[in-house]
Amino acid sequence: RGHRTIGARYNCACMRVQNFIDGQFTDAASTRRLDLLEPATGLVYGSLPDSDSADVNVAVEAAQRASPGWAATPVERRAGLLRRVADLIERDLEALARAESIDTGKPLTLARSMDIPRAAANFRFFASAIEQWGSQSYSMVLAGGAHALNYTLRQPLGVVGLISPWNLPLYLLTWKIAPAIACGNTCVCKPSELSPATAHLLSALLAEAGMPPGVVNIVHGTGVSAGAALVNHPLVRAISFTGGTATGAAISRDAAPKFKKLSLELGGKNPTIVFDDADLERALPEVLRAAFTNQGQVCLCGSRIYVQRGIAREFTRRFVSGADALRVGDPLEPGTEQGALISEGHRRKVLGAIEQALGEGGRVLTSRRADDAAALSLSARCAGGFFVPPTVLGGLGPHGATQQHEIFGPVVTITEFESERDAIELANSTAYGLSASVWTRDVARAHRTAQAINAGTVWVNCWLLRDLRVPFGGVKDSGVGREGGEDALRFFTEPKNVCLRYE
Ligand code: NAD
Repeated sequence: RGHRTIGARYNCACMRVQNFIDGQFTDAASTRRLDLLEPATGLVYGSLPDSDSADVNVAVEAAQRASPGWAATPVERRAGLLRRVADLIERDLEALARAESIDTGKPLTLARSMDIPRAAANFRFFASAIEQWGSQSYSMVLAGGAHALNYTLRQPLGVVGLISPWNLPLYLLTWKIAPAIACGNTCVCKPSELSPATAHLLSALLAEAGMPPGVVNIVHGTGVSAGAALVNHPLVRAISFTGGTATGAAISRDAAPKFKKLSLELGGKNPTIVFDDADLERALPEVLRAAFTNQGQVCLCGSRIYVQRGIAREFTRRFVSGADALRVGDPLEPGTEQGALISEGHRRKVLGAIEQALGEGGRVLTSRRADDAAALSLSARCAGGFFVPPTVLGGLGPHGATQQHEIFGPVVTITEFESERDAIELANSTAYGLSASVWTRDVARAHRTAQAINAGTVWVNCWLLRDLRVPFGGVKDSGVGREGGEDALRFFTEPKNVCLRYE
């Protein structure tokens, strides 16, 4: 284990993902393996273990053994190790970005500028956060001149389970690992079976950084097998999950009767509201970015665009031509703005959603046919890839499936609205409540609208501007709980009040 072996692991032509348990790379006990596909080509380029409850059990036991030692490790040492991991991620940025791009189909430029730098930032941020974190104390004056002092200890939970999705693999996995271990927990991670490559590469970096064995364990496999085993394991005290709403519901059903702490970051169907006083020169490129970043496969993507009547024609014309101009192509090529979707199954689901929109009376406003990959003039390497061009739909009412259900692909709707009240009503008209973005020059309207929208995050005149200190999460079907900043530290610790009476 260590740096010298990493070179071979970065050879993405034959990625052989392994579990990382107790500081060692291992295969699943069953030796069963799953194929790893490159979305841009549709070809198998590696494999991963199909782990089950036996493997999860070994990993949880390793985490349990490491737990007392890690909880007792001074905060400065824990923070130092987190910073060391961040340094190594930055050192290997290019190789990690390439692996992420090959594994998910996202443009290399995006992985290089967003995913991997953010993974390093997650470790750095929580290293500082844990060093700076205080706790509450309340002093009491009692009758007869006595006193009491309450102070709150924030103790680690023990072993925690971290389950992450495929769309931002290393970014979201490290968003969980960093606060969990900063707080003194040990963890067992279950990355998405569709995009396990960078979690595998991270394992080697953790070892190289000198992370004690068992502090971070990574078990690969499917959700129904390895994921469910982790959720159900009696020694796992908390689950931090990011993924789809239906999976979140299944995890809640499993975890709630066992009284585990749960943080659920789920799906979204986020509104983008453009008022007629918006600065269109700024709004248009950002609304386009909000719609199609990572082929629309970001939970925060603005997939329902509401435009005020006075500017609707001009906005729609310019937005559609912007969508048509986005370069779809080989994710590894520098000019590519839109890569491939994660899988053929997901591509079919997205195409099905477009069909359904047409059935609901919608119209495709963009000029590239979504189901005609040949028209995209892809390179020969990408002929079998899972591509769908950015697609803008108009003419849809607010209550049909297209405007209600998460598509999680490069498909957005544009709808006109009349008044501020209408916009707010439309924004709040789905079961989701993850985020929204609002475009206006009117400060009072910005505040009113932000307050009225039922979502965990509202961006005004920006999108995906992230400050890692802020609470992050959703309401309604978009989840329960908040991560980020102090909220993550609170989630990954148990408060204990000590009340000391003295004369
Ligand atoms: P998913 O729910 O299918 O899978 C997420 C993870 O859960 C994977 O690791 C999977 O193997 C695992 N899993 C599946 N079934 C499980 C079970 N029964 N028990 C335990 N684990 C199980 O989601 P996905 O398709 O990988 O990701 C896309 C979804 O994630 C979208 O809905 C998107 O909006 C959402 N998402 C939300 C956020 C957020 O912060 N709110 C961020 C990114 C993605």
